[in-house]
Amino acid sequence: MKEIGHWIDGKEVSGKSGRFADVFNPATGEVQARLALSSDEEMAHAIARAAEAQVAWGATNPQKRARVMMKMVDLINRDMDKLAEVLSSEHGKTFPDAKGDIQRGLEVIEFCVAAPHFMKGEFTDGAGPGIDMYSMRQPLGVVAGITPFNFPAMIPLWKMGPALAAGNAMILKPSERDPSVPLMLAALWKEAGLPDGVLQVVNGDKGAVDAILNSDVIQAVGFVGSTPIAQYIYENCARTGKRSQCFGGAKNHMIIMPDADLDQAADALVGAGFGAAGERCMAISVAVPVGDETADKLIEKLVPKIEKLKVGPYTAGDDVDYGPVVTKAAKENILRLVQTGVDQGAELVVDGRDFNLQGYEDGFFVGPHLFDRVTPEMDIYKTEIFGPVLSTVRAKSYDEALDLVMSHEYGNGTAIFTRDGDTARDFASRCNIGMVGINVPIPVPLAYHTFGGWKKSGFGDLNQHGPDAFRFYTRTKTVTSRWPSGIKEGAAFNFKAMD
Ligand code: NAD
Repeated sequence: MKEIGHWIDGKEVSGKSGRFADVFNPATGEVQARLALSSDEEMAHAIARAAEAQVAWGATNPQKRARVMMKMVDLINRDMDKLAEVLSSEHGKTFPDAKGDIQRGLEVIEFCVAAPHFMKGEFTDGAGPGIDMYSMRQPLGVVAGITPFNFPAMIPLWKMGPALAAGNAMILKPSERDPSVPLMLAALWKEAGLPDGVLQVVNGDKGAVDAILNSDVIQAVGFVGSTPIAQYIYENCARTGKRSQCFGGAKNHMIIMPDADLDQAADALVGAGFGAAGERCMAISVAVPVGDETADKLIEKLVPKIEKLKVGPYTAGDDVDYGPVVTKAAKENILRLVQTGVDQGAELVVDGRDFNLQGYEDGFFVGPHLFDRVTPEMDIYKTEIFGPVLSTVRAKSYDEALDLVMSHEYGNGTAIFTRDGDTARDFASRCNIGMVGINVPIPVPLAYHTFGGWKKSGFGDLNQHGPDAFRFYTRTKTVTSRWPSGIKEGAAFNFKAMD
């Protein structure tokens, strides 16, 4: 059995704790590797070595660090297919979707080539007599990234790029489910010129996370995952005085107004609801058609599209729409929630419960499901299902639809489909959600804007990528300077404005 270890001091090393987690091939259900879970001692060693390596890296001029970013872009492009193959085999997503996962991370590294610009401070000439004042941005030191299973390339790259470009060292603790791509990326960083020790990939479970949280050396934690863990990490970072940004779960609504192009809306819903088996934090999981006529027409268009979806392993070719979910437990949880929906009175219009893929009976495949007449009290509405299940909640008016979006505890993404500019503008302005799409189903911002949810979808300050990422991974120091010719005789005792 293949054994996966950690990336410490510029090379892959075996785990020493004697604890392991299984890494599955979700398409076949087979265990394909076992992953070493780090001990407190292994984590402490990785952090100590990162702190040593950070000193020289932080003092390297930003342009040289940017050159490492440039080289990394080339290397990821060179190895795109190789990375995507491994990614699909551990995560289960289709090959084109795996390449999209890598591409969206790569774009953040491209953005990080501009690190010298984002590291610049401000300067005031003559803030007082002979006095100049300037601010500088400095790296934090050693920071940590803790990432989820659903984007094993993109989210680690969102963390690594800005943290490293800003001059920090990073401890990355990837998901236990699909750990190989982060290790492959670590090897590429080395090839790109990143000094040993500046990036340590330490695999593990709650023990590894707690070791990060309890470390006195780690200055900041960037987390992405489910809401309860995001909140746990946020609270513990506050307790131990660390900066944190913790992004959590989602329940993204798409409002379909009566004037929307319903063919476009239905296509958008199918792609955003079922792509990656619904395992995206920006997946649309709730359709909110306004008016019964809109709802009836929409369901009529959705049903044949959903019934035609091709579910299969990534090896079956590029026309597969989505693959298996990540684990057997995830599959069972999704099917349990579907049953709860039925029991609580929702109308199951497309029933994927009996889905079976010949030759892949042990794989974690889940057929597509469409619910109609879901109400806000139902568990399938309140809970993030994270599977191929689309719920329809019928609203009588735009205000009622907006109220649903506003009242849900999650606030990651949302969308509206309409031809009316006033309605679209009102929605974008009033909704309490971090990322909004207007006739765009999955409004994931590009690398040079920032990404982050509101309410229970995000704890802490500042968003991921874009300019916010450099703010998160640096701290500002302000210097006031006066040279002898500007200094007047005598001590000053008053705290007064500068002349
Ligand atoms: P998860 O919360 O189970 O795991 C995320 C990370 O936390 C992993 O590295 C894991 O090892 C660690 N972890 C798990 N349990 C822990 C515990 N008890 N204590 C400490 N650490 C623990 O999430 P997941 O299942 O890997 O990912 C799916 C979730 O991530 C979904 O809720 C999805 O919406 C969310 N997500 C959010 C965003 C966003 O930007 N808001 C993006 C992607 C995914």
